[in-house]
Amino acid sequence: MQSEPSNPGGAPHQEAVSLQCLQCGGTQFTHPANVKDDDQLSCTACGAVATIAQLRDHAISERARQLAAGLFTEGLKGVKGWKKLP
Ligand SMILES: [Zn+2]
Repeated sequence: MQSEPSNPGGAPHQEAVSLQCLQCGGTQFTHPANVKDDDQLSCTACGAVATIAQLRDHAISERARQLAAGLFTEGLKGVKGWKKLP
């Protein structure tokens, strides 16, 4: 049997915030089998070490910043022009 590249209407999509290295932005980490918030991950690219909680906070704030930037851009598109003050 061939494996399908996409799976429309299949398994429910779970949006996960991917962790990113605080130093280099890498997304590959070495970590223990059962990770907890205060466990430390080591970036495979640059070797920087940070806790899950730190990485998650960083990822969430980055995502929030991107979302906010997107909303801001969308909002600007709706502006037809600046009203000139008399
Ligand atoms: Zn790194």
